[in-house]
Amino acid sequence: MNTIIERYHDVTARIEAAARKSNRAASDITLVAVSKTYSADDIAPVLQLGHRVFGENRVQESQGKWPSLKHDHADICLHLIGPLQTNKVREAVALFDAIETLDREKLARTLAKETQSAGKCPELFVQVNTGNEPQKAGIVPEQADAFVKLCTGTYGLTVTGMMCIPPFDEDPTPHFIQLAAIAERNGVSKLSMGMSGDFEIAIELGATHVRVGSAIFGART
Ligand SMILES: *Cc1c(COP(=O)(O)O)cnc(C)c1O
Repeated sequence: MNTIIERYHDVTARIEAAARKSNRAASDITLVAVSKTYSADDIAPVLQLGHRVFGENRVQESQGKWPSLKHDHADICLHLIGPLQTNKVREAVALFDAIETLDREKLARTLAKETQSAGKCPELFVQVNTGNEPQKAGIVPEQADAFVKLCTGTYGLTVTGMMCIPPFDEDPTPHFIQLAAIAERNGVSKLSMGMSGDFEIAIELGATHVRVGSAIFGART
């Protein structure tokens, strides 16, 4: 059964087509293959194809499967795309190469402390709650500029990207446009936006990272 491989190739072809359509180089778009809930056995065929960038939403689940995979493939780049509790920051800094969910001062403060003692820092993306959804993580858009300044100025963190998860029942277009505008005015160059259902739109609106899970690995149960 090569369905994961077939779907992976289909997704990369769609990324290339979307890039072409907006006169962008496909190489400027990073596919973050979201492997949450999938086992190391499901991930293996994608690794065998040479893919190296993966996304997970839970620190604990990731600690169960990624250390050995990273041991076998030193160039894996693992992104944390789910909420991060401050009591898990040390583990997250140790395991992840990028944290896409920096969204509050307490987390910035803890990251500053833990990255200093670890002597390394994952790449950081600020998550913006573009839909102002009360139940969703992310800094609200009105506070995003001040929050980026706080992270960089007060806490000395380097913020290179922004991430959003639009409300799932809405057209994502205005959310992607808003995220791109916030990033641009803050001098942040990377944009993590677009999932299985909308990554082509995100690419047309400037995404540098698309987080695609079910379109590659299949529906999660
Ligand atoms: C699960 C998840 C994804 C991938 O979702 P799919 O619809 O399966 O592509 C992307 N981003 C975040 C933050 C997620 O939690």
